[in-house]
Amino acid sequence: MKAVQVIEYDEPPVLVDVPDPQITGPLDVIVKIGGAGVCRTDLHILEGQWSDKSGVTLPYTIGHENAGWVAEVGQAVTHVEVGDPVILHPLVTCGLCRACRAGDDVHCMNSAFPGIDTDGGYAEYLKTTARSVVPLAPSLEPASVAALADAGLTAYHAVAKAARVLRPGDKAVVIGAGGLGHIGIQVLRALSPVEMIVIDRSPEALALAKELGADHTLVADGSEADRVRDLTAGHGAEAVLDFVGEGGAVETGVACLRRNGNYYVIGYGGHLHVPTIDVISTEINFIGNLVGSYNDLSELMVLAARGQVTLHTQRYPLASFQQALNDLDAGAVRGRAILIP
Ligand SMILES: [Zn+2]
Ligand SMILES: [Zn+2]
Repeated sequence: MKAVQVIEYDEPPVLVDVPDPQITGPLDVIVKIGGAGVCRTDLHILEGQWSDKSGVTLPYTIGHENAGWVAEVGQAVTHVEVGDPVILHPLVTCGLCRACRAGDDVHCMNSAFPGIDTDGGYAEYLKTTARSVVPLAPSLEPASVAALADAGLTAYHAVAKAARVLRPGDKAVVIGAGGLGHIGIQVLRALSPVEMIVIDRSPEALALAKELGADHTLVADGSEADRVRDLTAGHGAEAVLDFVGEGGAVETGVACLRRNGNYYVIGYGGHLHVPTIDVISTEINFIGNLVGSYNDLSELMVLAARGQVTLHTQRYPLASFQQALNDLDAGAVRGRAILIP
């Protein structure tokens, strides 16, 4: 089969012929890729930023946002059949460790991450396991949802966590209405009656946020924390969902938080400098968020099938992988770039 492989770091990846993956275990599932999302993480992988962390040996196939159709199953796989459309939870998990048994797939002690530390989905076929395939409703085309497997799942995981505690009348501030944020806004609107205030530097992103269900939108110009206070009778918001995590967003976000409020860190890159006396005297909480569980992904697919979460995609044939990577790097992709084998 054809696959796009990293041969050497800091070199362009190459389209090569590799052997098709084979079923070797009873719970293996081979998926014919219908769409593979092109992610900023792929650019970082090519620069070698992940080499120590992943420990992967080159060459290998990248692509960690995958959906397609079941092509072959091991003898113990009963919940999907050949031809079924599926989206892949990004991790291959063991199902036996303490984290897996708690439904917390992301923290599995014996996991693999196709596209990061094993062969991924910039290819015609990908091998995963029964635990990782989420069946898709017939209305959902794999290529249109593939990118929800990572960016969308991360946004869903954080927002669903917040929505579980937000009550009618509460206020939530969403910082960043870009790639992750615009999915988060749709999920928050679908899951919570909260009054939603969205902050972004871009008026276009804010116009989209309004369309997607934001109650108030604020251009980030330095006065946004004051304006959040104005919108919350001086108290601040019960939740801040920070999809940016750098460049002043954290300081703004903390200033928007109400007493006993929850700060959900999703975007990253900056630092958190908060006096501990402020944390104890106001009982504010800081909550990290990493990808999401299998159940998070299957719930997100319910929202996608209902049309409550939609993603704009820009599609490229697999052979045009370099164009897709270049466009992403140049900021020229509207929505998410998807490779179609
Ligand atoms: Zn990704
Ligand atoms: Zn496990």
